[in-house]
Amino acid sequence: MANIIKVLKGTKDILPQDVEKWHFVEENALKVFSSFGVKEIRTPIIESTDLFQRGVGETTDIVNKEMYTFEKSDRSITLRPENTAGVVRSYIENGMHRLPAPVKLWYKGPMFRYERPQAGRQRQFHQVGVEMFGVSQPSADAEIILMAENFLKSIGLDDLDVEINSLGCPKCRAVFKENLKNVIRPYLNDLCEDCQSRFEKNPLRLLDCKVPTCQEIFSKPEIQKVITSDFLCDECREHYIQLKKYLDELNVKYSENKHLVRGLDYYTRTVFEIKSNNLGSQNAVCGGGRYDNLVSELGGEPTPAIGFAMGMERLISLLKEKESSKLDGYIVSNDTTEALKLAQELRLQGLNIEIDLTNKKFTKQLEKASKLAKYAIILGEDEIKENKVSIKDLSNGNQVSAERSECIKWIEK
Ligand code: ATP
Ligand code: MG
Repeated sequence: MANIIKVLKGTKDILPQDVEKWHFVEENALKVFSSFGVKEIRTPIIESTDLFQRGVGETTDIVNKEMYTFEKSDRSITLRPENTAGVVRSYIENGMHRLPAPVKLWYKGPMFRYERPQAGRQRQFHQVGVEMFGVSQPSADAEIILMAENFLKSIGLDDLDVEINSLGCPKCRAVFKENLKNVIRPYLNDLCEDCQSRFEKNPLRLLDCKVPTCQEIFSKPEIQKVITSDFLCDECREHYIQLKKYLDELNVKYSENKHLVRGLDYYTRTVFEIKSNNLGSQNAVCGGGRYDNLVSELGGEPTPAIGFAMGMERLISLLKEKESSKLDGYIVSNDTTEALKLAQELRLQGLNIEIDLTNKKFTKQLEKASKLAKYAIILGEDEIKENKVSIKDLSNGNQVSAERSECIKWIEK
């Protein structure tokens, strides 16, 4: 026998028994995001590597070590590791700044990152996300966070923690970064390798480090003093205060986390994460924030923007088990031709129907019906002669005789 080929490390099949959960999440995404006037966009899975180098940032883990990049006809191409950059590219390329603001877009689909696979972390995973362009006011930040929360509630996840922070603008953040570097510098040799290499290029990212010895260093009083300092300029502070007021008015519960910096270079002002206590160490289901400089960075008209992305595998692992849905009807008959014809009639009327394609014994067919369907639709010799069917409700065993053309009336969808 030939060798069995296995699925690649860090990738997974989504099997039929799980796919209903995916539909459930995707349908709720469509419903909830539409309720905010958000339109769906689908961008390619492959993009030019430059897009992510410029759009995600050279100092991020994603660009430094996680991208699937290959050459084709002298072009460097990358499987998208996230979709904000792709959506921004499309926004610019399609002149969406000419549309009335805000332009609100959502997406879903696979993302690719070469990471160490573990529970809650794959190399091909899926995200659903929203981007909103054209509003600099904190009302947009509030609406985006509310939208994330509405969506999570719609799929039954209501015990999640929302964390927010403000990273300020490039101006006030520059001072903060310098202060941070100054207090951390004496401990540089004691930090993990990643932190040492991030220190110069992306010092904020240090705060996000998960290594306990690094966290211990950052908890030192002189470092905490800088981390918790109020470094925001007046405009950034006002923006942040107003966002918190909106969230309070909307009854969105949140906590402020000064260590929340997010991995990506492009964030300005608001950043947020939504976490679950039931996910172990990969506990973030949603990450988002404002990125007012990214559109111009990628060559578009300066346009403020804000968005979020959620990991679908993590969402789905939190869903409660649901019974998988049954067929509306299973046709039980020893006349394959008539069974095929009736199934076709009923399917065209919108029902989900199966028949026994192998003409097994009646009793076997009935057994199969009770496993798979809500109703057994019995088409014996007598029924066929009289143009009738017998319909058996498999939840209680009740059986009725009906005109063949009226079958659908007896079957509640
Ligand atoms: P993390 O800190 O968990 O690596 P991140 O900051 O890299 O997250 P984002 O780029 O903000 O994550 O992506 C948003 C969400 O996508 C995350 O909150 C998470 O739910 C999900 N996600 C990110 N990377 C993976 C992965 N490799 N496998 C599964 N889900 C992922
Ligand atoms: Mg990551």
